[in-house]
Amino acid sequence: MQYAKCTLDNRNWEATAFEQLPGGELETKRTSLVCTECGEFAWYRKRSIHGHPPHFCAHHAEGCDLKVEYISSTESRDDATETADDVENNDTIVVRLDKEKGGAIDVVQTQNPPIPGQGEGGRRFVIDGHTRISSQQFTLRRILHRLVKSEAFRQSTSRIIFYRTNDEVMLDGQVKDIVVSFADITKDKHHEKINFYWGPIVSVKNTKDGKIWLNSSMSYNSASVAIFEDIADDFMQFFEVEELDELLGAYVLVAGRCVYSNGGEGKPVIWCGTKNYIFVKKYKDPYVEDI
Ligand SMILES: [Zn+2]
Repeated sequence: MQYAKCTLDNRNWEATAFEQLPGGELETKRTSLVCTECGEFAWYRKRSIHGHPPHFCAHHAEGCDLKVEYISSTESRDDATETADDVENNDTIVVRLDKEKGGAIDVVQTQNPPIPGQGEGGRRFVIDGHTRISSQQFTLRRILHRLVKSEAFRQSTSRIIFYRTNDEVMLDGQVKDIVVSFADITKDKHHEKINFYWGPIVSVKNTKDGKIWLNSSMSYNSASVAIFEDIADDFMQFFEVEELDELLGAYVLVAGRCVYSNGGEGKPVIWCGTKNYIFVKKYKDPYVEDI
């Protein structure tokens, strides 16, 4: 889209005017963009080497006039329509982090179902023959998809267990407690705490020391994910990312320790040092496709 509103200066920006901003100002303002109609978070895509002009994108709210629906009759709607109701009562969700496979950054069109055949998990099995606890195995991909799509899932009291290895538990608790939206991070509850954290990415950068920084917007507490230099290349390969800008507008789900920067006075940063502990889900930008 051509316009987005910046909540810092309360101004509606046209994309080519936004492009002219000095670097530092642009970097600040791009973390505070929303759709001019529905107010959902938006992000800025710079002019591309392929000739696409600068523009803004957003995941619009239901009913927003600026939302474009792309429905393909050939694609399965299974995953797109699933809700937290699919997790049956008393069913425990199991995630085996050592089985995570990465893959292309999972491009799905906004409001569209994911690519058929890529949905994994949901296989029903029994954790342990003696206790007979019924459970469903999910991947990070599937967890993130549900978090994005289902408010009910975000608030779910279902038990979820993340296994580091076959029988070593990393986190065990209720979904609503141990899978935390960037928007819900508070210093009191989450400083120095290891959880799963998730939210949208509106700016990305490499620092000189080789770390990758994925930054969310101000409405998400300006939370950032810092990916350590020793796994940065693996991360790029794992998700088949060539340019960091491909991650703009993606959602990220990451396990790690949340630390408020500047000795507790700054913004929340989630530190990620293991590639199996992170998943990114990219939404295709229909505006780019059409240009
Ligand atoms: Zn909108």
